[in-house]
Amino acid sequence: MAPPTAEAIKARARELGADLVGIADGKVMDAHPPDPRDPRRPSDVTALDAGRVIVMAKRVSAGSTRILAWNDRHKYYNDELALTLLETASLELVYWLEDRGFPAIVIPPTHVDPWRYDGDPERHQTTLISLTHAAVEAGLGTLGLNLQLLTPEFGPRVILTAVLCSVPCATDQRREAALCLGPSCGRCLKACPGDTVRHWDRDWPTCDRYRSPHGFATLAEHLERIVSEPDAAKQKTLIRSEESFNLWQSILRGAGVITGCRRCEDVCPVGADYEAMLKDALEDIPEHTAAKQARLDAMVEAERAGDRPASYTAQCRWIGDISVAPKA
Ligand code: SF4
Ligand code: SF4
Repeated sequence: MAPPTAEAIKARARELGADLVGIADGKVMDAHPPDPRDPRRPSDVTALDAGRVIVMAKRVSAGSTRILAWNDRHKYYNDELALTLLETASLELVYWLEDRGFPAIVIPPTHVDPWRYDGDPERHQTTLISLTHAAVEAGLGTLGLNLQLLTPEFGPRVILTAVLCSVPCATDQRREAALCLGPSCGRCLKACPGDTVRHWDRDWPTCDRYRSPHGFATLAEHLERIVSEPDAAKQKTLIRSEESFNLWQSILRGAGVITGCRRCEDVCPVGADYEAMLKDALEDIPEHTAAKQARLDAMVEAERAGDRPASYTAQCRWIGDISVAPKA
């Protein structure tokens, strides 16, 4: 049997439920790790079967995006269901490739390196390979001001997985021009409840407490509070508290752990879906302040003077050329 072509693989992935599919060259990704100090390359996962990185994206529902509160649990659950669908589609694609003679493996967004955990729950945890960077290498989009993936179809409002497989098919090209409108837009920074958006960067540990509001750091803190409470009645109240209930529900389903804040994604004007489905609900940003605007103005001024931060230089391969990008 002839190896499946890139077109056949993409058609199968779409049949299985993916909205977007791109194929990156594993060797190119090996040669360009997003953080050279901590290279997490496809070949570190599997030396034999990482010749291609097939990146699949599923859009989150517009209905959940139109709910404005960043911490509304309907959003967490809807995203969790989209993730479940995409993970199932990825596993189905693995079996489809293997039925054609090519061993394959899923890289889900939920799997972080447990062997790197050093006892500090506050430390930013990362996936085995960066799926946002893989998506850029697979031609699906470019990174934005806070390093979120932007796609022309759905802006940042997508969930990602990847399938590694050394099937000898054609690969996609990276986009050269940035999709992000830069600090003259700055809507991700204006809306961020944790004020974690920087100039082509993000304060990841602070963002993690919003992206994963009932995650391991919150669980560890809550358990510490319970065991160190000397009053037995108060201890019982803590065990029965809403925080315990939310943590239990999150452990049950992953909602509020893997899914969480995505306010920066909701308000981003990039993506064909924004004008059509979202703008009427999301145009106003109540979280915006004069101090945030002053920071954005300083970024615009610095870029106008040709001064780009080191964070841009380090990530320009994936952000793209901002000099030719459209301005807000
Ligand atoms: S996920 Fe939430 S906290 Fe993190 S950058 Fe986006 S808006 Fe800010
Ligand atoms: S909201 Fe604006 S600045 Fe932020 S990523 Fe989207 S286009 Fe870029």
